[in-house]
Amino acid sequence: MTTYFNAPTVCNICKLPLGKEMVDGRTHWRVWACMCTRCYVINGVGLGVGKGQHYRLFPDGLYHRTASTKQDAVHQRLLALHASHVPSQTRFG
Ligand SMILES: [Zn+2]
Repeated sequence: MTTYFNAPTVCNICKLPLGKEMVDGRTHWRVWACMCTRCYVINGVGLGVGKGQHYRLFPDGLYHRTASTKQDAVHQRLLALHASHVPSQTRFG
């Protein structure tokens, strides 16, 4: 598992508490941000190498990225949400 140490408590974009999930990812503005899932769906460019990583808050109080991310139902849900909100990624890349 990859751990995100010193994670912010609030979303870099909307400033609301990150909660149980966050995405450390690249935005449409080309800068990286720790985002809540809501902001990720609107502003993120995707998940994967060079795009973004999905983390979950574990009982130890730290955000961890599980090794089997591709099998993760939450990850799949985010990908589906993202696909439905971003009709074209080509203009960013
Ligand atoms: Zn947010």
